[in-house]
Amino acid sequence: MILILLGPPGAGKGTQAKILEERYGIKQLSTGDMLRAAIAAGTETGLKAKAIMDAGNLVSDDVMVAMISERIEEPDCANGFILDGFPRTIAQAEALDEMLSKKGLALDAVLEFQVDEAALFARIEKRAKEDGANARADDTAETMRKRLAVYHEQTAPIIPYYADQGKLKTIDGMLSVEEVSSQVSDALA
Ligand code: AMP
Repeated sequence: MILILLGPPGAGKGTQAKILEERYGIKQLSTGDMLRAAIAAGTETGLKAKAIMDAGNLVSDDVMVAMISERIEEPDCANGFILDGFPRTIAQAEALDEMLSKKGLALDAVLEFQVDEAALFARIEKRAKEDGANARADDTAETMRKRLAVYHEQTAPIIPYYADQGKLKTIDGMLSVEEVSSQVSDALA
């Protein structure tokens, strides 16, 4: 099974991806986590990405498409995977369709998590507090505003793209983790 989790930062994509990973035995691929690992490892990609991420902007489509294209070839993706944070632009969505069809794979569903944006600020603040000294540099109210603006400008246009393909499932992301998870199960049944 191949899934995309879509929604603004703090919508709960990561939490649901981990539940889906367990439930279906498919791998969560978080491009944000991959980039943060590249920064921690001091790779060239990481060094270039850091300032862009800290400012709440998007890393270039070329870098992200190459990263995912290589990653999904790994053996742990053979059963399927959950894309968490990718695609984030129409160009990435088109590149993904192309790479999947070249590899003889097909997308099963796109889960869009709808949330009340005022509540997202509280969620991000909570995440930053819980993470303490390890908190992400981009989990601040100021960067959050920028990340939301980028989401609306560059990522939200992929919602109609997948609706046209008949792949889009809408999830109420404001419910409890358990309730969201049960909506996700129903959407995939
Ligand atoms: P996330 O952990 O998904 O919130 O991602 C954190 C940051 O990593 C984003 O604000 C972007 O700067 C960058 N990033 C993650 N995924 C992508 C992507 N698919 N395209 C471009 N930038 C990305």
